[in-house]
Amino acid sequence: MDAPLSTPTGHDRHGRYPQAVTVEDVQRNLVAVRSCIAAASRRVGRDPAGVRLLPVSKTQPESRLRLAYAAGCQLLGENKVQEAHLKWQALQDLADLRWSVIGHLQTNKAKLVARFASEFQALDSLRLAETLDRCLQREGRALDVFVQVNTSGETSKYGLAPEAVAAFLQALPAFGALRVRGLMTLAVFSSDAARVRRCFRLLHGLRERLRQSAPAGIGLDELSMGMSGDLEIAVEEGATVVRVGQAIFGARALPDSHFWPGEAGGGPALSGDTLPGGVFA
Ligand SMILES: *Cc1c(COP(=O)(O)O)cnc(C)c1O
Repeated sequence: MDAPLSTPTGHDRHGRYPQAVTVEDVQRNLVAVRSCIAAASRRVGRDPAGVRLLPVSKTQPESRLRLAYAAGCQLLGENKVQEAHLKWQALQDLADLRWSVIGHLQTNKAKLVARFASEFQALDSLRLAETLDRCLQREGRALDVFVQVNTSGETSKYGLAPEAVAAFLQALPAFGALRVRGLMTLAVFSSDAARVRRCFRLLHGLRERLRQSAPAGIGLDELSMGMSGDLEIAVEEGATVVRVGQAIFGARALPDSHFWPGEAGGGPALSGDTLPGGVFA
C-alpha cells in the first residue's frame, strides 16, 4: 500500500509572499507554482497537464495585470465582479485576455458578469442561474460555470451544501447559456492539513457520485480547488483547476476579510488554530 500523503499546507506563508514587480518575477513565480503542481501530480500518479493554473489577480493594479499578460497569462481570476469589470474595461487593448469570476455574485450584478466574463466559478443558487442565463441570452453569449460547494461546513462560506448539489444539477439543463463544467470549493483555512484534505476529498467523492445521476449536458470533469496555501494537497486530491493569487503576484495589501466578508478576524476563520506570526493581524 502507498504511504499516506503528509503534504503540509503552506498557509504559514499567507500574507508574506514577496511582491512580483517585473515580468520576470511573475514568470519565475509561475514556474515555481507549476513545479509544485507537477510534484504533487507525480506523488499520486497524475499527469500535471490535467491541472490548469488560474492566476488570481484580485486587488492587483492594472499595471500588474499587464505584467501577468506579458508573462503569458490569458485568463485571470477576480472575485469581485465590479473590480473585474473595471479591469476588463481598462485592458480592452489586450483582446485575447479572458476573465474568470471566482467569487460570490449577487443576482443584481449578474448582468455585469454576462457582459464580459468567460467563466464563473461560484454558482450557488437557482435564482442566480436563472438571472445569469437571461442576461447571457440577451447578450448572445454563453458562460462556463462551476457549482460552488461548501465542503467545510463553515457558515461563513458560500456554496451549496453537498447534499443539495444533486437536485441543483437536475435543474441546470433549463439554462442553455450556462455550460456546466464541474464543481468548485474553498477548503477550511487551517494549518491542519488533514482538515484541509478532507474538504477536497469530499468534493472529489461528491463529483464521483454525482456522475451517476447528472443530467445529459451537465459536465462534471472539472474540480476547482486549491489556492496558494493548499494547492499541492488539492492536486493530490484531484483538482483540475487551482486558483492562485499570492504565490504569483505577492501578498495582498488588504486583509482577507475584505474578500470573504463575514469571516472572523483579519482572514478566513481559523477557529482557534491561528498560524504562527500573527499573519492575519
Ligand atoms: C483570493 C482567492 C483565491 C486565491 O487565494 P491566494 O491565497 O491568493 O492564492 C482563490 N479562490 C478564491 C475564491 C479567492 O477569492
